[in-house]
Amino acid sequence: MPTFSETQSTFARAAFDDLGLTENVRSYLSTPRREIRVEIVVGLDDGSTGHFIGYRVQHDDLLGPFKGGIRYHPEVEEDEVRALAGLMTWKNALAGLPFGGAKGGIAFDPRKYSVRDVERVTRAFVEQMLPLIGPDVDIPAPDVNTGPREMAWMFDAYSRVRGFSPGVVTGKPSFLHGLPLRIKATGLGVAVATRRLLERRDRSIEGATVAIQGLGNVGSWAGRTLAEYGARVVAVSDSSGGWVCDDGFSPGLLQEASSGDLSALSKNSTEVERDSILTSDVDVLIPAALGHAIDAHLAKEVKASYVVEGANTPLTAEADEILAEAGVTVLPDIVANAGGVIGSYAEWSANVQRAMPDGEALEKDLCERMVKTVDRVVDRARDDDSTLRRAAYVDAVCDVVRVYEMRHG
Ligand code: NAD
Repeated sequence: MPTFSETQSTFARAAFDDLGLTENVRSYLSTPRREIRVEIVVGLDDGSTGHFIGYRVQHDDLLGPFKGGIRYHPEVEEDEVRALAGLMTWKNALAGLPFGGAKGGIAFDPRKYSVRDVERVTRAFVEQMLPLIGPDVDIPAPDVNTGPREMAWMFDAYSRVRGFSPGVVTGKPSFLHGLPLRIKATGLGVAVATRRLLERRDRSIEGATVAIQGLGNVGSWAGRTLAEYGARVVAVSDSSGGWVCDDGFSPGLLQEASSGDLSALSKNSTEVERDSILTSDVDVLIPAALGHAIDAHLAKEVKASYVVEGANTPLTAEADEILAEAGVTVLPDIVANAGGVIGSYAEWSANVQRAMPDGEALEKDLCERMVKTVDRVVDRARDDDSTLRRAAYVDAVCDVVRVYEMRHG
């Protein structure tokens, strides 16, 4: 299996080639501005002392402050964080957001520690990162195993030293300068992007069949919204299994799944082997769980006409090529799951302006930005006769290079 950095560089290199970038510019775009590795040492509830390693990779800030999530997972390592930081640079550029790209994480399993321990680790990480983050410098957000609770601790740890700074992180609880929109933003964006992609191909979302891998935050909100749009979500999976329902799961059942309770959903369906979801005979497949979920071997079995990447880097580069050759349209992650960072932008923007925005207007803005981003990429792919991924990377890289040339050219 390739590393995530290898997959990301394959995608970015194709755009660098298309744009005929010089070695200097390629090297600049491939090299993170800063890679931070910190040792976190904290006293734990059981009386022992915990040592953990935390990372933050700040890939690029030509378009604005670094922006990207922080994950807690035992397998967090530098290569994956580096790959995801680059992905954020391209995603933010493509959505027209005033942010650069970053990603971070701590190599530990929070489920094995008490809530107080997780809080101590989170606060100690912020103390170490303090000089290198800030509302105009680098703005972390939730990612795998982090959420509003961790963002509240980060906001508080930072503000105790620097003064009231709600814009230092996004994804905070709605009672603490966060926005309710952020919770559903990524899944809603995936659904809007899917509907728009089909429209651009003269297909209606109504009656289109959909399979979704992963019923967490992204998968369940995407599924529920697509079902509300009239799509038939006929196959779903999470880490514990797969389920099919030929009539389509109702928005209500998919909504319940977003709380982690799959009992009603599984009662109203047939259980199947988990990974068979990926090869279901459907119009649209949405991998919304893991990176590299579809490799070359699996790609040959995919029957969907459209693959919409809810997760980050769910395809290996080889799988991507196989699907392209088979005529499958892949909407890449840097377009499909940009709703999350668009929601984060709304929150950051309200925080720095001390504004209290109207939720409905924000949701409308998110949907419009997603449609605009899909259109931009579909148009570029049509003009260049290329895949959507290649078109997305070319457009995103162009936006960053334009500023690089202004500053360094
Ligand atoms: P989550 O932890 O809420 O959900 C993950 C889901 O995947 C869970 O339902 C889990 O059971 C399922 N899963 C894990 N392994 C599986 C397997 N082998 N087969 C089927 N299902 C499996 O995570 P999330 O926030 O929904 O994120 C999902 C993906 O989307 C990740 O790649 C994440 O980086 C990406 N993403 C998330 C956001 C966001 O705002 N949450 C934004 C952009 C990208």
